[in-house]
Amino acid sequence: MITKVWDDPAVFDIHIDLPNNPLRSLNVYVITTPEQNLLIDTGFNRHECRGALWAGIRELGLDLKKTSVFLTHLHADHTGLAGEFVAQGCPIYMGRIDYEYLDKMKNGGNVSNLEELFRSEGFSEEVLALQNRENQGRRYSVKQMFPARLVDDGTVISLGNWKIRCVHTPGHTPGHMVLYLPERQLLFSGDHILFDITPNISVWAGVPRSLEDYLSSLEKIRALPVQAAFPAHRHGGSDVPRRIDALQAHHRDRLEEICRAVAARPGSTAYEIAGTITWSARGLGWAQFPPHQKWFAMGETLAHLRYLEQHGQAVRKARGAVFAYYGV
Ligand SMILES: [Zn+2]
Repeated sequence: MITKVWDDPAVFDIHIDLPNNPLRSLNVYVITTPEQNLLIDTGFNRHECRGALWAGIRELGLDLKKTSVFLTHLHADHTGLAGEFVAQGCPIYMGRIDYEYLDKMKNGGNVSNLEELFRSEGFSEEVLALQNRENQGRRYSVKQMFPARLVDDGTVISLGNWKIRCVHTPGHTPGHMVLYLPERQLLFSGDHILFDITPNISVWAGVPRSLEDYLSSLEKIRALPVQAAFPAHRHGGSDVPRRIDALQAHHRDRLEEICRAVAARPGSTAYEIAGTITWSARGLGWAQFPPHQKWFAMGETLAHLRYLEQHGQAVRKARGAVFAYYGV
């Protein structure tokens, strides 16, 4: 299914279902001009996504010889089908930091670091084994690393007469990029700003302050005048400052909740704390959480615990083979 979401330049949204995934669907935006097109993100490397993507491309009558692809960040629902475009000779643009991170992930490095980190924070071995089998981000990731034109903060991509600016917005991933079209004040916000759901903020190997990075990246976008924002999942919006306020309030509330949980149960591991937090998971209790949801919840809890530690609001100490948290 395709929808025209903007007139000049013409922007289309190819709706890609993500089966059995809480995100539900991905918006693949295509900015079209007579000279060139830019397609943003791809969907998972699975046949349902591949079918919907190519149906949309055919319906648009997109000339692939004039089409480039931009990948907002490394997650598999965004990069999974990059190889298909490489095979067609389409140039791929991607932020340098996420490209290098993904390159390492494909070689096993960063993923196993994170598993060890989760173990040392009390994550259940049994849940880890289950989530390794189920995690869609692993199962449907891009088959092999692909060549890309690497972009940095401020890189400008020309599309016909239009200039599109890449803005580095670390937080959801270390190298997340949004695209901004100043002449029309259009923002393609990737997973940095979503309007119906809250982007997952986790910990990353070699990234000490992912939540702080995310909150700063929100302020960076607040400084841009935006007429329309096109997020990668669910609905778009126009009141970006208001959404930024809500996202910041969400993380403030969560920081307070985790701070209270640490004070109420001193000596708990991050995993134990994650089990006491309120998660919006369609009314499921922690025990019923699917393993991959526990993995995301653990990442989110850790990102907030790191923030609390760095701001002198919690202390982390070794408790046998794992770490435990205490109030101050
Ligand atoms: Zn993502």
